[in-house]
Amino acid sequence: MMFTTRFAPSPTGRLHRGHAFSALTGWTAARDAGGRFLLRIEDIDPTRCNAGHETAILNDLHWLGLDWERPVRRQSEHLADYATVVDALDRRGLLYRCFRTRKDILDAIGDAPHGPAEAARPGPHPTDEEAAFLSEGRAFAWRLSLDRARDLLGDRAWAGLSFVEEGRGPMGEHGRLRARPETAGDVVLARKDAGTAYHVAVTHDDALQRVSHVIRGEDLFEATHIQVLIQTLMGWPTPVYRHHRLLTGPDGRRYAKRDASVTLAQLRAEGLDPRTLRAELGF
Ligand code: GLU
Repeated sequence: MMFTTRFAPSPTGRLHRGHAFSALTGWTAARDAGGRFLLRIEDIDPTRCNAGHETAILNDLHWLGLDWERPVRRQSEHLADYATVVDALDRRGLLYRCFRTRKDILDAIGDAPHGPAEAARPGPHPTDEEAAFLSEGRAFAWRLSLDRARDLLGDRAWAGLSFVEEGRGPMGEHGRLRARPETAGDVVLARKDAGTAYHVAVTHDDALQRVSHVIRGEDLFEATHIQVLIQTLMGWPTPVYRHHRLLTGPDGRRYAKRDASVTLAQLRAEGLDPRTLRAELGF
């Protein structure tokens, strides 16, 4: 299989040094392996993504000296594909409707005797309650039931869920690791507003685009555990993962989209030479 990796930003803000580090890590790995580097725009959230941010991302990455294969995949153009995945999982009885609001879930976490992990698995509503909510026309999300997934796969296959980590998890995890979907809980696979959700779109596209190596920040390490489960349920291959450290600013905090001062656009406006930034980041 051809070494293929991707940088998959969500156009919800401007790129910062942390994104530059991530994109350069993937791009350099693809170049060194004689492989492919893809850019994917993960814009399924209509409330937070916009075309202006997307254009800015492309400009910033060009400025940084990166190139990528065309066409760029834009997830908002493929919502029907993700809906098919949600349907397929639903037809196998793996999903349940969740009418709870974010606040309901947070309140439940506060009340949970065994901490957040328990609350992240709210479980199906009682049948009569669900019927009442449906007849009222209330909006709902679809959640993946880990209990049903485990029943379907069987305990042996469940215990065998694993992935290869060639980078490092937040606790230094490395090598072949057991995937523990429990840490993520009954994740939402179709949001109330978007009809799909990150875990569906990202696993679908990694499979479709034959991504052999997922290279991304360690903040997404936990997500890998649930993504391995979705790949297994859908019969998709599990790529190799390389999670990398997150860059921190002078104050020791990791860069975030809200810190406008460290955007690449700002550095460019200040006249920084991209080669200087690349060298600073170790490339
Ligand atoms: N779109 C995600 C983000 O902006 C990254 C997804 C991924 O690399 O798997 O954080």
